[in-house]
Amino acid sequence: MSDLKFKCPNCGYHRLTEVMANVTVSTELENLYINDPMVAEPEYGDNERHGGGYILRFQCSNCKWVFRKDGENNPITSYADLAIWLKKRKMVTDDWEEAE
Ligand SMILES: [Zn+2]
Repeated sequence: MSDLKFKCPNCGYHRLTEVMANVTVSTELENLYINDPMVAEPEYGDNERHGGGYILRFQCSNCKWVFRKDGENNPITSYADLAIWLKKRKMVTDDWEEAE
């Protein structure tokens, strides 16, 4: 079991966001409001599914500060690299050992 204790280096906020690209989202419609066909407005149900896509970056939910691998300019795009980044800064408690 791990426990996330992220603290943004830029603003100190405690939540982070996964940003994905090329995701297909499908959502069930509850209703459709039509006063004028040109501005028909859907009411969505809770049943949202998404598939495909890839991780573009992880960022602070507040200030949008982007996680980058140490010594690199590219954003972190995998949970493995995110876990290593967090563990180095003791922002996650864990019971696994990092391979050298
Ligand atoms: Zn922040």
